[in-house]
Amino acid sequence: MQTDHENAPAPREEVAALPAYNAGITFAAARRISGRNDIAALASNENPYGASPRVSEALGSLVPSRYSDPACSALRQALSEKLGIVPDRIVCGNGSEDLISALCRAYLRNGDIVLTISPCFGLHEIEAMAAGAQLVKVPMTKEFDYDVDALAQKLALGPKILFISSPSNPVGAALSRQELAPLVDAVPPGTLFVLDEAYFEMVDPGYPDGLKFLNERQGVAWVVLRTFSKAYGLAGLRVGYGVSSHCCIARAMRACLTPFNVNAAAQIAAAAALQDRDWMQETTAKMRRSRASLADRLRGLGIRVVPSQANFLFLDLETDAARVAGALLQKGIIVKPWMETGYTDHLRVSVGKAEDNERFAQELARTLALA
Ligand code: PMP
Repeated sequence: MQTDHENAPAPREEVAALPAYNAGITFAAARRISGRNDIAALASNENPYGASPRVSEALGSLVPSRYSDPACSALRQALSEKLGIVPDRIVCGNGSEDLISALCRAYLRNGDIVLTISPCFGLHEIEAMAAGAQLVKVPMTKEFDYDVDALAQKLALGPKILFISSPSNPVGAALSRQELAPLVDAVPPGTLFVLDEAYFEMVDPGYPDGLKFLNERQGVAWVVLRTFSKAYGLAGLRVGYGVSSHCCIARAMRACLTPFNVNAAAQIAAAAALQDRDWMQETTAKMRRSRASLADRLRGLGIRVVPSQANFLFLDLETDAARVAGALLQKGIIVKPWMETGYTDHLRVSVGKAEDNERFAQELARTLALA
């Protein structure tokens, strides 16, 4: 086996110091560890009902030997019609994570401040750090709400980027209109507000559509990120999009992406999935019902469950969550123990199908000696 080579150049210091992204455990690894075939995959917030049947039909037209459209023209046009926003303000990515990375490369210089919340989605931190930024994190309140006053105060520092996910990963809270309005008002000139709405389709009625809200505001520079990985069930194909307040922001992101960043299968699949609105709405409605039942079931066991607007729940286990996740893995259940400082007693579990949710609840109760 080859070991590290003394003649290899050292990576940039920022890169050597990066925290690892906690990408979770594959089915294959879970099978090996548990010795079981029936894995309950409840760690990556995927859509347990899969994708619209129209996706596989549309993929019949795929020509693998041809490069994909570097401009994602058809998909951006379809998004433009759906959202009422010109295609020049829309950029597609190899997953929305591609766009987080492009934004950091496009805007951040060494020492720039990036403002976010804690706990936060790992890539908001890792990509910013990789670009040399200095991270300022505002903790959520004890009740796991956004601390808008504290964020507004820190915005006065003039961060280059503000990253907020709503619904938040990992907590599940979503910004209400009363929270979003003062937050947007506090964004100073020169700061780019990146609102990551990966779980936008999962929220209950009454929450604002962040994109519509921002689009009606003047004078703020923003990007809204969305994805086909969650509600549309296309996580494996990797496709997301960003909508920006100004064409110049979209151009800057595009300049920092590789030319053929969204593969041909992903472009075809996303356009087909977008057309089947009914299917997406049915599966997200099912998920919402399962989310409520799973939360009730876990609360019934005495576990503190944070109210969630996403397709996952954040649980305060009051004990080391990594140990609990390890025990569940032995039983063939994959969940995500949160590794961020201050939150390591918390576990994030995706809402799955009823049988997997119940299996998780039972094994969790056993592991915590609650049953
Ligand atoms: N943003 C948030 C808040 C997420 O939770 C995720 C996926 N876990 C992403 C972005 C990236 O998703 P994708 O690259 O699959 O679009």
